[in-house]
Amino acid sequence: MRAVRCTRIPAGTKMAAVDSTAAPATGGFRLLLVEDEPEFSAILAALFTDEGYHVDVAGDGQRGLHLGLTRRYDVIVLDRGLPAIEGLDLMRQWRRHGVTTPVLVLSARGTAADRVAGLDAGAEAYLAKPFDVDELLARLRALRRRHLDVARMLPVGGYRLDLDTREVSAAPDHTGAVAEPVQLSERECGLLATLAGRPGQVFSRADLLTGVFTEAASPIVVDTYVHYLRRKLGQGIVDTVRGRGYRLGRDPRR
Ligand code: CA
Repeated sequence: MRAVRCTRIPAGTKMAAVDSTAAPATGGFRLLLVEDEPEFSAILAALFTDEGYHVDVAGDGQRGLHLGLTRRYDVIVLDRGLPAIEGLDLMRQWRRHGVTTPVLVLSARGTAADRVAGLDAGAEAYLAKPFDVDELLARLRALRRRHLDVARMLPVGGYRLDLDTREVSAAPDHTGAVAEPVQLSERECGLLATLAGRPGQVFSRADLLTGVFTEAASPIVVDTYVHYLRRKLGQGIVDTVRGRGYRLGRDPRR
């Protein structure tokens, strides 16, 4: 369960504090490698580990899909020719489920048409094999930086949530007028950021309790904070899904 931290942190330490799962004890970033060639996969995994990444390896598309959907990564390195699910299909499935982690495709298929297909399917970068190791690592660093900057500003329907200041702001209206941002408490921000991190996903109260309100004893605290969010941002900000839990409102400005 992803726990989002909503506190201002000094520049430079920004990357380690995006969420608690993104920064394991080693201080490294989490990288998912999906590659079916065992020897090549082992070489890459060693390379990434040396570079300071915490690496998970999936040897086929099915395992890659599962890991990408259930764990948080800072970057994903994806092969195209995979057993079970082809690489680009796999990426489309992640994207459909709201996984926004940047993906670098590493493939023997390197024509212009192949690259275009990869980028169109949702990859942020495409590198053809054989590749230069330094270029691969540099591209991963660039993706990671971009992802982290974006990750501090979460889209919430027509609003944006700033995880540093905990302010929710709306886009300017048709006259260009900008409404005063709404200030959230740390727990309100954590709850909203968790829901907004996976729009469409229904979270049970138990999920939200462990993910956001770790020290709280009763699931009622979740209901209370949903109430606070609605009071500040409108009824539509969170949808109740009867018998299942809560999800980000489908029409947050209702
Ligand atoms: Ca392959």
